Amino acid sequence: MKIFQCQACDQPVSFESTACESCQRRLGYLCEVHEVSALEPSGHSGHPQMGQSQTFHAYARPGQKYRFCANAHQAACNWLVPEESREIFCRTCRHNRVVPDLAVGWNLTRWRQIEAAKHRMFYSLLRLDLPLPSRAESPTGLAFDFLVDPAESFLIGPPVLTGHRDGLITLNIAEADDVERERRRMLFGEYYRTLLGHFRHEVGHYFWNVLVRDDPSRVTFRALFGDESQDYGAALQRHYAQGAPPDWEESYVSAYATSHPWEDFAETWAHYLHIVDTIETASAFELHVRPRLRHGPSEPVVIDFDPHRTADLDRLIEVWLPLTYAVNSLARSMGQAALYPFKLTPAVIAKLAFVHERIYAVRATEGLGEADADILRAVIRGLRNRVAAPNV
Ligand SMILES: [Zn+2]
Ligand SMILES: [Zn+2]
Ligand SMILES: [Zn+2]
Repeated sequence: MKIFQCQACDQPVSFESTACESCQRRLGYLCEVHEVSALEPSGHSGHPQMGQSQTFHAYARPGQKYRFCANAHQAACNWLVPEESREIFCRTCRHNRVVPDLAVGWNLTRWRQIEAAKHRMFYSLLRLDLPLPSRAESPTGLAFDFLVDPAESFLIGPPVLTGHRDGLITLNIAEADDVERERRRMLFGEYYRTLLGHFRHEVGHYFWNVLVRDDPSRVTFRALFGDESQDYGAALQRHYAQGAPPDWEESYVSAYATSHPWEDFAETWAHYLHIVDTIETASAFELHVRPRLRHGPSEPVVIDFDPHRTADLDRLIEVWLPLTYAVNSLARSMGQAALYPFKLTPAVIAKLAFVHERIYAVRATEGLGEADADILRAVIRGLRNRVAAPNV
């Protein structure tokens, strides 16, 4: 993610900030320009559903008045909505179908954490210009149900399983509880389990439907990930009974990815978003990385580009490997687990190249220069060669 700054006083602020600590101005997020903006009150306006609400001028987009998303009242969102919009919710909150009963204090705390992760995921999806229809715009548009497990309220009912179906992402809100999430991570033998990771994974299933299911690229998908027509339920049962094959790290980014080609795609998609977002953060700090190894590189890798507009996947991979070597070592110096404990083998990189190609194929590519467009064509050619070559 970028570094944000208050436009009025230059104070660095975070993506989630609602007020500047230095000049005290209100802050809100403007997704159309991907900026946190300092605000000046500009009066009030009426909305049939919201009634009167305060409006603001935004420093990051002069000439347009805004009001806050309706979820700002719950301190669950800091995104802005244009004053004249008929929507009461912002670009990310309008996808919510069910939120838990917020009169229960514990639910409110968990929901805020869930929204924070969901908003970060939307940041990436919007930066990548991906199509994001809501349920109001399409019956299979992207929607979220955030549900409380019946057992938590001493009720009878099937447990809430986190997952995706036809655009609807269901999340058990117990995943926002650190103790519970860590318990599940241990139970499932995972290296990594976070709310942001859940969202990035589940939305990968959604984008498989949108970008692959009915597209000629499904042939390439099957060559790389396997035949997704195999019985999904049986494949998951087998995975939970037998675990991943011992050599899974050669071909899969995680053990869970071995369970079914859909899960492999969703895991790869999630890693693509992890990589792009983390490289953007490194780029915002203009990190130079040169491990001082014997016979190591003489020049540092300089991370100074926008990974959302880099058609050459190899460029991302080239900086990702030394960057993760450095940040994993830093984490261990603090007694923490490695930040990115995953291996990117040639087979995994070929799958990432498929995700990369699908994203660039669907987005508006007019922003890419001719050189980048050439590179993208080369990525697609390289992908075909990788699929054609055995043992990758
Ligand atoms: Zn300020
Ligand atoms: Zn919102
Ligand atoms: Zn999944």
